[in-house]
Amino acid sequence: MQALVTTISRKESVLFELSSAENAPVKKKKSSGTHPLLQKEFSHDKRLPEISETQLVRHFYRLARLNYSWEDGLYPLGSCTMKYNPLLNDKLASDADISALHPSHPEEYVQGAMQLIHELESDLCTILDLPGITLQPAAGAHGELAGVFMMRAYFAEHSENRNTILIPDSAHGTNPASAAMAGFTVEKVPTNEQGTLNLDILRKKITNDTAALMLTNPNTLGLFEKDIIEIKSILNEYGALLYIDGANLNALMGKVSFGKMGVDLTQLNLHKTFSTPHGGGGPGQGALLCSERMLPYLPSPQITKDERGLYRFVKPDKTIGKMKQTYGQFSVMVRAWAYIKSKGKDLSRVTEKAVYNSNYLKERLSRKLNLSSSLPTLHETVFDQSTLKKYGATTKNLAKALLDRGFYAPTVYFPLNVDGAIMVEPTETESLDELDAFTSAIFDIFELLETEPEKILQAPFKTPVRNIDETQAARQPVLTWQKVQV
Ligand SMILES: *Cc1c(COP(=O)(O)O)cnc(C)c1O
Repeated sequence: MQALVTTISRKESVLFELSSAENAPVKKKKSSGTHPLLQKEFSHDKRLPEISETQLVRHFYRLARLNYSWEDGLYPLGSCTMKYNPLLNDKLASDADISALHPSHPEEYVQGAMQLIHELESDLCTILDLPGITLQPAAGAHGELAGVFMMRAYFAEHSENRNTILIPDSAHGTNPASAAMAGFTVEKVPTNEQGTLNLDILRKKITNDTAALMLTNPNTLGLFEKDIIEIKSILNEYGALLYIDGANLNALMGKVSFGKMGVDLTQLNLHKTFSTPHGGGGPGQGALLCSERMLPYLPSPQITKDERGLYRFVKPDKTIGKMKQTYGQFSVMVRAWAYIKSKGKDLSRVTEKAVYNSNYLKERLSRKLNLSSSLPTLHETVFDQSTLKKYGATTKNLAKALLDRGFYAPTVYFPLNVDGAIMVEPTETESLDELDAFTSAIFDIFELLETEPEKILQAPFKTPVRNIDETQAARQPVLTWQKVQV
């Protein structure tokens, strides 16, 4: 089975280009003696394009079809966990009683909403086996920043001046950015040949100036950092904290105790693992969880339940303050709450299926593509471009040829420690048929590289825009429409 190519090749004009006086639905405000009730609807603003309803609806429908969406097929973007989110969760989040809530409503009026937040917080604490949480951060990276601020507050409280954070070279780019934004110096720790943290180098780099190690686990190669207990004991020797970037929880949920790993701080992306369409630019949510010793520094407010069973906002002792107005993205919390409650005890099966699906693709695709590591992988797999290079092709050619075959491309050229990385994450929501269709598309690309390589090297052929100049697109973006062509 081959997925349908839904892109259309026609160039779509902007509305101002389609505009002409002939097309205007109503030429003068008081035309045609329409009933006054209807006339109100036909107000006319000269600055807007003059265009008929038919043209308008078709214009937006065509534009919508230029998008690739989950409804079209697999989104194999590694590290992003682009998966299907049950519509039930969206329905709940848009329920009138929920969407009409206002953040300034007094506590007594929003007890139900506070109960939902409190339940979600305690479910997440149970899943990770950690005692503290805030749901304020608006994204994963924002959760990291909150975590790094908490480290600062912790060391200030203990009268220690520590300025360095160790980060492996396989880390997500947001980790060094968050550390630097909070004023820390970032020290890179190279990974070993297999792609996991190099403990010898960690021992050499760690000093009494080290505030923390920020480790992604499973890391960006989809590998579990199995030396975590030893890593933790090295950190303990120097009084440094362990921060885990837990954005990839799809691989660990219900299987691993963050408490037992000795984690001090970790952020999760509710918009990746716990339902909420992400990819449209948000809103997202980065829950930040912490160990006992970090509790006093959590952002304010926190929600507690008092002895009368009422929910109250409280301020932790040595709080770092607010990371966001009020208490975070409530609609994302509703979706996450609904997701966890509807899965119930089956939550760990999500992890199992995500890992099975990924390993199935790994097994099949490794007949053509070269694996970046020989270690067992979890929810995603990273290949390098060595087998493509034999045909004079690159990762970019493979990605573009996949677009012609109706698939979104995998994450490419990340992580940076793999040559021409191709990072594939199918997630648990894909069927065997879809995984097989994706495999066939890749096999087809290799077959053509043997017989008619130009069909791959010149790809894409079927997308509305073919090969763009990516450098110019970044340096001279044309962001507004003007009559003058650039
Ligand atoms: C997605 C991701 C992030 C960043 O999350 P945002 O919500 O995009 O800010 C950080 N770390 C890892 C490992 C990720 O996969």
